[in-house]
Amino acid sequence: MIIIMKHGSSEEEKGHVIDRLTALGYGSNVSGVEQTVIGAIGVLDRDREGLLEQLGALPYVERVVPVLKRYKLASREFQPTPTIVKVGKAGQGVTIGGDSLVVMAGPCSVESREQLMETAQAVRDAGATMLRGGAYKPRTSPYEFQGYGMEGLEILAEARERFGLPVVTEVMDPHDVETVCRYADMLQIGARNMQNYTLLREVGRARTPVLLKRGGMYPTIENWLLAAEYILAGGNTDVVLCERGLPPYGDTNLRRNVLDLTAIPIVKELSHLPVIADPSHGTGKSALVPPLARASITVGADGLMIEVHPQPERALSDGAQSLDIPAFERLMRTLPALAAVEGRRMAGAGVTA
Ligand code: PEP
Ligand code: MN
Repeated sequence: MIIIMKHGSSEEEKGHVIDRLTALGYGSNVSGVEQTVIGAIGVLDRDREGLLEQLGALPYVERVVPVLKRYKLASREFQPTPTIVKVGKAGQGVTIGGDSLVVMAGPCSVESREQLMETAQAVRDAGATMLRGGAYKPRTSPYEFQGYGMEGLEILAEARERFGLPVVTEVMDPHDVETVCRYADMLQIGARNMQNYTLLREVGRARTPVLLKRGGMYPTIENWLLAAEYILAGGNTDVVLCERGLPPYGDTNLRRNVLDLTAIPIVKELSHLPVIADPSHGTGKSALVPPLARASITVGADGLMIEVHPQPERALSDGAQSLDIPAFERLMRTLPALAAVEGRRMAGAGVTA
């Protein structure tokens, strides 16, 4: 439920409401620009009616409203102001959300030290603000390249130190969460795992930001936000959503997935969480990546995830959708003007957080 304070309520009055919630064992989240909104976290059904009445009777409370949606912490009702997620070490980090636009770029998989270093340097020089790369790869066939695991994580951490880009990488197994947190700045939950509730609970316990891709068995917008709710309910408030396309009805030779651009403004209205777009997995074809990347910005995405490989034709995974370095550089040159039209600026590593 949310407690909407009257205009001009004092800090002390807000404190009273928060203390009352704390005394009952509930958390609170304060937001709102014009008017303070206090979100009560974890209110049990048995307390709801009583609290609605008691808090609603306070002279400095305008009204108390139950959040009716199934996802609560992820909803705009609970927190009207957009969440800004900080990723990476203070002073070197990147912020996601608000008016900045983040670009996460890198290969689908970490294939070798040389491949990752070359890509990291190129994407950083072209203006990317985060480095992506998979060490644990969810592959459809067990005979396909599965990623280099720990070795891949070490290479990613080395690239982060060398090029100053925070790193995002996928975690697939709940048992690996602690380890991946030691190497990565952001944990990616892949599309196949959006409804892996054991994994969602585990990353909810972590204090490393999470990139939650849309997918799973029923990749509806509501289920996506409910998946985010699992993470938020565990106490990890740094969740960024990622639209990465849904399987098409046909013509799979023409595109692997259909990037759902409508989901971006819809989710931004329903939720305060930042949303980025992944036009690489969202199309599966490198030629479609630049136009869909630009379209994503136009519909309000807070950033992009782009697969880049120095030699896409030799990539061990997702070569067909990876941009080569010159194509990535061309795409990046078109983004600042587009960002400006949307009232945004390109995020800069080491500048914003
Ligand atoms: C990836 O980012 O390389 C990946 C496997 O993504 P998705 O989970 O969206 O398929
Ligand atoms: Mn990939």
